[in-house]
Amino acid sequence: MKLYPHLFIDGAWTAPVEPRYIDVIDPTTEEAIASVAMGGAADVDKAVAAARAAFADFSNSTIEERIRLIDRIISSYEKRVDKFSEVIAREAGIPRASRAQVYGPIQHMQVARDLLRSYRFVSRLGHAIVRREPIGVCALISPWNWPIQTKVIKLIYGLAAGCTMVAKPSENSPLSSLLLTEVLDEAGVPKGVFNLVNGSGREVGQAMSSHPGVDMVSFTGSTGAGRVVGATAAATVKRVSLELGGKSANLVLPDADLEKAARWNIQRCFFNTGQSCHAPSRLLVHASQVEQILPFLVDEASQFRLGNPLDTATTMGPTVSARQFETIQHHIQGGIDEGARLICGGVGRPEGLTRGYFVKPTVFAEVDPKMKIATEEIFGPVLAVIPYENQDHAIAIANGSIYGLGGYVFTSNRAQGYEVAKELRAGRISFNGAATDSLAPMGGYKQSGIGRSMGVFGLEEYLETKSVYGFQEEAETLPVIHG
Ligand code: NAP
Repeated sequence: MKLYPHLFIDGAWTAPVEPRYIDVIDPTTEEAIASVAMGGAADVDKAVAAARAAFADFSNSTIEERIRLIDRIISSYEKRVDKFSEVIAREAGIPRASRAQVYGPIQHMQVARDLLRSYRFVSRLGHAIVRREPIGVCALISPWNWPIQTKVIKLIYGLAAGCTMVAKPSENSPLSSLLLTEVLDEAGVPKGVFNLVNGSGREVGQAMSSHPGVDMVSFTGSTGAGRVVGATAAATVKRVSLELGGKSANLVLPDADLEKAARWNIQRCFFNTGQSCHAPSRLLVHASQVEQILPFLVDEASQFRLGNPLDTATTMGPTVSARQFETIQHHIQGGIDEGARLICGGVGRPEGLTRGYFVKPTVFAEVDPKMKIATEEIFGPVLAVIPYENQDHAIAIANGSIYGLGGYVFTSNRAQGYEVAKELRAGRISFNGAATDSLAPMGGYKQSGIGRSMGVFGLEEYLETKSVYGFQEEAETLPVIHG
């Protein structure tokens, strides 16, 4: 079993002040594959001090320097794509076939780099020069379900803005973050600009979000933990960016291609073993068409090849941990107990898999919108089919959630589809399964979050705004923003 004894602070691999180790468990074999040193509050202090010290220089780096730095990070990352895909298969059960997990980060880095070429950090409004300046030291707290991408989006926009940072990955996925740190180190990220402190949310995460030397917290994770982070950060009035949970609805209107909608929904909802924040985990179908759509759902769910995520033929790996497995089992049993109709799947491991945290792809019909399987984020391959009477009723069900992350609509009527998209109270809507892109903002309404990531909206999360008066002559040479 490999030992990882270091954090990364002030440009050097460093032992924690009080070393403690946790085992990283491979969710396929349930065996420990690595032992990783965890830091504590004292290490956060050191990392924040290093980031503060580095801020003076890095915040004044030129745009060209940051573009070149991102280019070097991309090259260094690309050399390790295979390694990343192996590491996340082993630490989080993510199939090697999920190419988006390792190639997606490259695209995000390219978008951030290209944006730097056109973004106007200095402009004019009225008589003032308006400057967008790096916000300072950022705390980056990320989850395990997209372990590389969530971290890369945060750090690359932070670097693009000229910020320095302290990062903490999930305890379930520290290995990919250690590898990512190797990439940054090799690419020549200046000393102190990026620091990695592995550790628990309760200790290291809280130390980061309460730290007076941190100017901004960018958090991706559950709504429960996000509430705690937001409350903690409020004491020192930090900027907070929260990307939280979801319970997204897919509205299938009566004129939609039912088979296409059903198959797409299963693929999108069960991708990553259902552990995706934007999963369309509520499928809203006209009451008269429910029986028609169910066979397509069952057939599509049966197409997944469950097994070892290192095998490139595997399309569904295990869930990330024993805890996650238990939570999902609890929800499935809860659905049965609440009287929903189990169409496929159910409690227990899938046939033939006696080890590993594998879950049966599960579909429930006759789900009442008030049932827990319709209101709580399960974060597993479990779909709730909810009948509706008419379009207004469907929209009311979709919006009747504390969450507002994603929304989906299937219809053959484009105008009607767009009307529904306008009505949905969620941050990202997709019509007839349209793919998303990395330029447009991503984030949630309601308890799905605060702020947006990606593209220009994502960059601006890491920027402060300053109005400077008395330089009217200079201001007049600058482009006007917002008319
Ligand atoms: P989580 O349990 O909330 O953990 C997320 C991160 O926060 C981990 O690094 C965790 O550390 C840390 N953390 C936990 N409690 C904390 C606290 N009190 N203070 C500071 N940090 C704390 O979520 P997860 O299970 O890793 O990820 C799944 C969740 O993320 C789902 O709800 C999913 O919807 C959401 N998600 C949202 C998006 C989005 O874009 N909206 C994207 C991906 C995932 P430890 O676990 O190491 O203790």
